[in-house]
Order: sequence, then C-alpha cells, then structure tokens
Amino acid sequence: MNELAADLEALAAFGAEGAGVSRLAWSPALLDASRWLLERARAIGLQAELDAAGNVIAKSPGSGPAIVVGSHIDTVPQGGRYDGALGVLCGLAALRRLAADGFSGSRPVWLVAFMDEEGARFGTPMFGSRAFVGEDLRELGTRRDEQGVALAEAMAAAGFPLAEVSRARAVDQVECYLELHIEQGPVLEARGVDVGIVSHISGSIDVRVGLVGQAGHAGTTPMDARHDALVGAARLIALIRDEAAAANVRATVGTIAISPGASNVVPGAAELSVDVRASEEATLDRFAGRLAELTAAVGKQEGLETSVSETARLAPLTLSSDLQQLLSGSAQEVGASSIAMPSGAAHDAMIVGRHVPAAMLFVPSRAGVSHRDDEYTSNEQCALGCEVLTRAVSELAGGA
Ligand SMILES: [Zn+2]
Repeated sequence: MNELAADLEALAAFGAEGAGVSRLAWSPALLDASRWLLERARAIGLQAELDAAGNVIAKSPGSGPAIVVGSHIDTVPQGGRYDGALGVLCGLAALRRLAADGFSGSRPVWLVAFMDEEGARFGTPMFGSRAFVGEDLRELGTRRDEQGVALAEAMAAAGFPLAEVSRARAVDQVECYLELHIEQGPVLEARGVDVGIVSHISGSIDVRVGLVGQAGHAGTTPMDARHDALVGAARLIALIRDEAAAANVRATVGTIAISPGASNVVPGAAELSVDVRASEEATLDRFAGRLAELTAAVGKQEGLETSVSETARLAPLTLSSDLQQLLSGSAQEVGASSIAMPSGAAHDAMIVGRHVPAAMLFVPSRAGVSHRDDEYTSNEQCALGCEVLTRAVSELAGGA
C-alpha cells in the first residue's frame, strides 16, 4: 500500500460507521481527525495549527504569498471516505514531496482542511472557507442541529469562540488555491478518463415557496369546494421539473412541509424548498422569474395564496484559465488523460476562488456515487490524480 492509501485508511477510522464515515462539523470525530492531520503535517516539518474557525492549516517555510492546496475532512452523516478527504491527503502528499526536496522552492505552500464544508449539521456549508476569506459569520451562531445545539455552543464547547472567528481570515496572504476532489458524478468513469480539469462551478439559489389554502374535513369538504395546498404543490413540482429540463437548469424540490398534516384533513398549507443550479447567473435569474410565474399560476388555478422567497444564493464561478492550463500540462507530463468539465456541486474552491485564482482537479467516482458509504475511487486513480496535483504544486512553488 502506498502512503496515500495508508493515509486514507487511517483517516477513515475517525468516525467510522460500517464502510463509511460520519464526521460532522465540530464533532469529536472531526476534531480528532483534525489533530491526527496536524501530527501528520508536523512529521514532515510543517508548521501546523487549527485556526479560529477550526480549519487545519499547515505551512511550509518560504517567503511571499502562499500556494494553498486543500479541501475538507468533514463528511455528511454516513458519508464516504473520499469526498474531501482525498483532496486534503493528496495535498499532504504534495507537501511530502516538497519536504523530501528540502522545500527547495522559495514559495510557501499551505495545506488546508476547511471546517464544515458539507454544512450537514447546522446548515452552514463552507463555514471554514468563508471564514478564511473574511466573511462575517457571527449571525450563523444561532443555527441549531437536530439535537437543538446551537452552532455557537458547539464551537465554544470545542474551544473555538464564534466571536473570534474573524481571526481566521488569511486570504490576503494567498497567491492561489488548488483543490483535488472526487467527481461525485459519472462522467470520468463513463468516458474512461483519468482526471477532469474543472472549468467552472455551477451557481445555485435556494427558494422557499409557500402555498396557503384552507384546511378542512376530508369527509365533508366537497371536492369542488377545496383549496388544497398539497394538490397545488404537486402540480407545481411537476411544472418545475419540466421547466428546468427545458431551461438547462437543475431544479430540485427536496423538502415539503404540510399542515395540518393528518390523513383525514385537507392540507391547508404547504411549504417547499427548491434548489436551483446553473452555470450562468442570468440563467438562474431567468429561472427564478419563471418559478414566481408558475407559482402564481398554480395559486390562481387552485385558489391558494402564494409566496416565493430566495433564501440563499451562490454565484457561479469560472476557474482560473492559467491554472487550468497548468493542470492540463501536469496531467500530460505524468501520462494522465484529461478533459475539461464543469462542476455541478459546490466546493470550497467556489468561496476561495472569488478572492484569488483557483483551480480544481477531479478524479473518477465509481458509478458517480457520493455522500454514501459505497463511494469509491481506486488506489491507482487516487495516486494518478495525486501525481498531477503534486506536479502542479511543485511548479507553482518554484521547486519543479
Ligand atoms: Zn466535498
């Protein structure tokens, strides 16, 4: 087993659950894994600490702005071993190579494992990278997990006061950012390609749609006298699916809350979440406009009051063309086949890449599976992607 595979195995022991792992934000399993990573980094001569946002930051010596390489080691509940973890461990492998050469490049290289990329516990995705670029996150402190614990409480218990999170801002010392990640989709495997070089990351909007009609007795309310919010929701969900397919958008109604919510009561109100993703901001805006029109039309048809509100937005990001070129050159040099491809999933690179040039490298995911315990990328595929990343990092650091 090579060192990367051994590291993957060792990291997967933290929060192990069957074949998968659960390392939620600020959990003991994640913090233990972070401390393990600090030790691994120190063992090759890096100066490694947790910053005020719980990010692992490990620095090689050198002067000038830093080359940052990283990803995340938190997971969704019962997630896989590779999502995030592979990018961090490949970054560690790249630094191990630099260390073997005595850090002969003059540029500092930082390995970063961002806290809470998944946002699975508190609904606060990319918390660590957002802190790293200096966003004000204090208002997130009241978000609660399923047990009722607030984010600020969980952070305080782990020794990280939310009031001090602004001290994690470090993007001003950064030259550029590189992130290797599993594809989480089927394209590379289907095409038999070794690595994907990401051209852009889709943007997204989260929309809440409310439909209010009238609750009533299931036996006594005539069919033609109903204002059934769930019937309206059902019509709307099908329309959203059709409209998205026609508009080159991915739109998903992922949750629906009905009240009163009893088998013998006509539903009086429904609230839906709509997750909308597209590669162009104008496409997102157009779809948001259509969603409002469709909702109003369904409301009219079913006799419902409607409301539509956008609750979150992430603009799409185009990745650095210089860094894409560097990665494709590195792939060629190590004999890895590559294609350019978009990312439909969000990543820390999306946050950091708004401040400094950023690039992402994908390796194949078996059957496109991710966020499950059967997520898998072979050791050979991991090693080859790692080699491409290592070469690019070495070149940026000036030691190649
Ligand atoms: Zn990830």
